[in-house]
Amino acid sequence: DAPARTDFIRQIVRDDLASGKHDAIRTRFPPEPNGYLHIGHAKAICLDFGIAAEFGGDCNLRLDDTNPAKEDPEYVRAIQDDVRWLGFEWHDLRHASDYFEVFYLAAQKLIRQGDAYVDDLTAEQVREYRGTLTEPGRPSPFRERSVEESLDLFRRMREGEFPDGSRTLRAKIDMASGNINLRDPALYRIKHVEHQNTGNAWPIYPMYDFAHSLSDAIEGITHSLCTLEFEDHRPLYDWCVDKVDLANAPELLEPLLAKGLPNEASKPRQIEFSRLNFNYLVMSKRKLMALVQDGLVDGWDDPRMPTLQGIRRRGYTPGALKLMVERVGISKQNSLLDISILEGALRDDLDSTAERRMAVVDPVRMVITNLPEHHAEALTFPNHPKDESAGMRVVPFSNEIWIEREDFEEAPPKGFKRLTVGGDVRLRGAGIVRCDEVIKDADGRVVELRCTLDPESRPGMEGANRKVKGTIHWVSAAQAIEAEIRLYDRLFTAADPDVDEDGKTYRDFLNGDSRRVVTGYVEPSAAQAAPETSFQFERIGYFVADRYDHRPDRPVFNRSVTLRDTWSG
Ligand code: ATP
Ligand code: MG
Ligand code: MG
Repeated sequence: DAPARTDFIRQIVRDDLASGKHDAIRTRFPPEPNGYLHIGHAKAICLDFGIAAEFGGDCNLRLDDTNPAKEDPEYVRAIQDDVRWLGFEWHDLRHASDYFEVFYLAAQKLIRQGDAYVDDLTAEQVREYRGTLTEPGRPSPFRERSVEESLDLFRRMREGEFPDGSRTLRAKIDMASGNINLRDPALYRIKHVEHQNTGNAWPIYPMYDFAHSLSDAIEGITHSLCTLEFEDHRPLYDWCVDKVDLANAPELLEPLLAKGLPNEASKPRQIEFSRLNFNYLVMSKRKLMALVQDGLVDGWDDPRMPTLQGIRRRGYTPGALKLMVERVGISKQNSLLDISILEGALRDDLDSTAERRMAVVDPVRMVITNLPEHHAEALTFPNHPKDESAGMRVVPFSNEIWIEREDFEEAPPKGFKRLTVGGDVRLRGAGIVRCDEVIKDADGRVVELRCTLDPESRPGMEGANRKVKGTIHWVSAAQAIEAEIRLYDRLFTAADPDVDEDGKTYRDFLNGDSRRVVTGYVEPSAAQAAPETSFQFERIGYFVADRYDHRPDRPVFNRSVTLRDTWSG
């Protein structure tokens, strides 16, 4: 069934299926394994996998590993984990490096056709000859060298005969083109570097445009979705696909048969969409890498990082990310979005899915003097106020409880609605208490509030309807579990930490208060939760049981987001 939702990409896909151009569609998500995926990648994943699924097609996960120096299997594992976490499964897992032999044969085909040549110019000379936006390029003196000579040199490049940077293979297109990408772009460079997948087998590596377009063609990709910066590369993408023409060159695909890799040579179409960017974040892998390496955060999966591993640990859910991607939509206009769009999507997702619990993050003791010592009762609370199917839970109540320190004021400011000496407050679901006495330590700090519980105000009684100004949360001191509570906030204080103002960089805008760890108390049923369970701690915010550190006997909760947008930045 065609989805109701629409945008210009889905419209293209729908038209291509309706016209019979394709019987089925295939997309791919092609991350370079040179770092961890971030929130921006979530948009690409939701589009690549989401559109394929909506139209009954499939999507490959392709590790675009053509740049050997920066890549690492650690990233490959995390990428797979992230895609699955978002709820997607790939049709095939491929590596661009699986196709190195095909690319090599394709390059030779281009040389034989007169569409590529080996150039001996240095990188600097190539730049010089390339011209500028207003000035056409000049042909390299090696542009007209014979097919035989180029074939021989290219073979010797592959044998490892020449040093790094001494030669390139270049496409022969148009040195006067208005699109600089078409001024005889490099297709191969010499690089004597070990590769994480192919080891030392190759001293030459294909360039991005060549490798990417042919990888798409090899895999039978119909719609190749990518970000806007590749728009100017599209003519080169099409040139590579057309000139190599894999669909009519089965001999080039033979190396894949030997590897048992199916191929369905197609003529893919590249379609660009805008990158996702949020204020208060940096999202380039280079900067994220620097934050990790300089110890400014606790690793790639630090809950303050915009990596998918980081925001997952923070308590972001796949549902929230999908909601955000849907709300942001797809366009061809790059923009810097407000972070409240991301945080709002998380609140909306968790509001409907997260069960409610009580937790006290800055505890002060309350003794209810008109209940017997060691008094214990079991109250029953709904898990979710708007969803009966979430069921009920037992919350222990007793004569000694913890309340939030800020819910009591000895000298209340005007308009204060919570507990004061001689004043009343409702204990959520338990009854109304009055504070009779404040006990302080030698430093004048409040250590205990002595209160009486109105016996007529217990749940279900007539007196429970009595009007009081405030309702506060609490946990029973004897049964509550001590918990480490990590209060996270935005990593940067500046909306655009990327701008270089007065020589400042994103490092100068780090929020010193972005991580605060406190000891609080949670009700027993919160402690029991499995890691990665999200809760709304009533009146405080949304929290998640830490993916790695949480244990029922030693709970650890991370604040995912506050209940309301309280940032004053
Ligand atoms: P970075 O610049 O952060 O390193 P990248 O584009 O180099 O990102 P890749 O691993 O090549 O990262 O990206 C894989 C796919 O994800 C590409 O198709 C790319 O266009 C897409 N992508 C990357 N960043 C974003 C973003 N911010 N918004 C949407 N899509 C993105
Ligand atoms: Mg890239
Ligand atoms: Mg990059």
